Amino acid sequence: MLQYKVVAAFLNDAESTAKKNEIVQIIAELIKKMDKKEIKKGIYLLKGRTDADYKTEPLGIAESLVIKTLSLLSGETESEVEAQYHKTGDLGTVAEFLCKKKRQNVLFSETLTIDKVYSNFKQISTSSGKNSQNLKIKYLLDLLSSAEPLEAKYIVRTVIGKLRLGMADMILINAIAKAFIENSEEYHYVERGYNLTMDIGYVSEVLASEGINGLKKIEPEPGIPIRVMLAERAETIEEIVTHIKLPAVVEYKYDGLRLQMHLSNGNVYLYSRGGDIVTEQYPEIVEAVKKEFKTIKNMIVDGELVPVDAKTGKLMPFQQISRRRGRKYDILETSENIPVQYFVFDILYYNDQSYIDKPFAERRKVVLDLFDNMNDKLKHVNGIIASSIEEIYTFFENAVNDNCEGVMVKSISDGSVYDAGARGWLWIKYKKDYTAGLSDTVDLVIVGAFFGHGKRSNLYGAFLLACYNKENGTFETACKVGTGFNDEDLMKFTELMNKYLINYKDEHVISKIETDVWFLPEVVIEVTGAEITVSPNHTCGSSDSSGSGFAIRFPRYTGRLREDKRAVDATTTEEIVKMYGKQ
Ligand code: ATP
Repeated sequence: MLQYKVVAAFLNDAESTAKKNEIVQIIAELIKKMDKKEIKKGIYLLKGRTDADYKTEPLGIAESLVIKTLSLLSGETESEVEAQYHKTGDLGTVAEFLCKKKRQNVLFSETLTIDKVYSNFKQISTSSGKNSQNLKIKYLLDLLSSAEPLEAKYIVRTVIGKLRLGMADMILINAIAKAFIENSEEYHYVERGYNLTMDIGYVSEVLASEGINGLKKIEPEPGIPIRVMLAERAETIEEIVTHIKLPAVVEYKYDGLRLQMHLSNGNVYLYSRGGDIVTEQYPEIVEAVKKEFKTIKNMIVDGELVPVDAKTGKLMPFQQISRRRGRKYDILETSENIPVQYFVFDILYYNDQSYIDKPFAERRKVVLDLFDNMNDKLKHVNGIIASSIEEIYTFFENAVNDNCEGVMVKSISDGSVYDAGARGWLWIKYKKDYTAGLSDTVDLVIVGAFFGHGKRSNLYGAFLLACYNKENGTFETACKVGTGFNDEDLMKFTELMNKYLINYKDEHVISKIETDVWFLPEVVIEVTGAEITVSPNHTCGSSDSSGSGFAIRFPRYTGRLREDKRAVDATTTEEIVKMYGKQ
């Protein structure tokens, strides 16, 4: 069993460099030291979680509880601990300092292992009910009483959800590959495993115990969400056909919610774009699937959930669905008032067989067969095989007339696999709002805010937004937006964002702009703008802090809060740079 102090020492080393390759190397060395029985837990600890992404939320207990625990540990008052926190801006450093100061009672001190830390974290994350706060304090205090100063620093940072590495999946994926795989040409199998299971802990365990061959055998499995395939964007249909050879499939691009449906021995599971389980929110879809597919053993399909007008049957704007999200109580009532239809566009698994590596033409045929003339809840997408630019354009006009956002053009070439987790040129989106300004809306993370003026002075009036730098796991600012919010929005956002308020700039946020307040990077909103410009004030795409970055000019909030996207699903730096290049 690896001692936690080794983990802490490596994390500390990794923190001393900003170079991604060095961090990967350090973490790879750490992973090599882990026993294959504990590697899964070790990886979860590095991610700041206690289980797979789709099964748990990241750790993140209230800072006030940690302050209480540190006060109990050190004998200092809570206000003294809080004062130190204000001074340093990092509770981890405060914990380290207090541990150094406290008199160590060697007799009662237990050596912390990965196993012990993991098991207490699990207790902390699962304690619920009336006594939960006391229990959380108890399990944290239990760890901190035995912790050496550096261990305390990383235990606290992990438990409040502020572990620097907790963000960047790519760092862990690369480190795991480096730790176990000799031939770098086979590194991509680690990412593939993660894309098919959303569980990097499991992937590392398979690799540690069964080697690369075990990893290659990972296939989709009903009941385990798969990372969704994403589309590139193009500004003209002419541009699309430079990437996708005609004939190609053109489908309506519905304005709804991405939904992955799994059927396994009569059980139905629905997953959101990010892998969250949302089965309970759409009971009518579950019932419809159970009824229609009684004889089918298992399948996984991908599609879009779209609200329809109960009277006219017409497709409705997406916002209607968001009214149903998170409403546990009135689900049955709302399912009558805001009916939804599930438009299936792909199949990933069917009757014990994976379909992800089959060409799209073949997968599409199965979707059309299975979902033909089904019922008013389950449908296949509206699509054609187009052989010319004119056909694509006519179909696009029909889509817009039918309240869709535009079209998706999809390759049917031999290599047109379902590329889980990837954004590539096998699918290209073409939207109606391309004509005005930016070639696409972008989804950015709110990292800070500025107070309003006059009667809005107690509300936030503008927000600092950032894109996600996937390589570094950082959030780089791309604009300040105050347009597009009405009074009601500003009230809603002030209340919402106060949940993520922190009194310092999160270390993942790279900003040259000073805001009135900072937030944890959690909330994603959709923004449009006139164009992308080079700006000395923003850090998007500027690798060093002195250089200029890219920014959205005349940004405007579109009214869409992207509840289905986590911060790491926001538009990436790479995408913005690419959009700039195309202008
Ligand atoms: P992305 O999903 O590409 O990150 P986004 O969430 O902002 O971006 P869009 O840019 O609107 O979404 O386009 C992709 C989304 O379109 C898909 O994730 C899916 O939810 C939706 N969609 C609607 N119709 C289709 C279709 N026929 N095929 C694939 N996706 C579709």
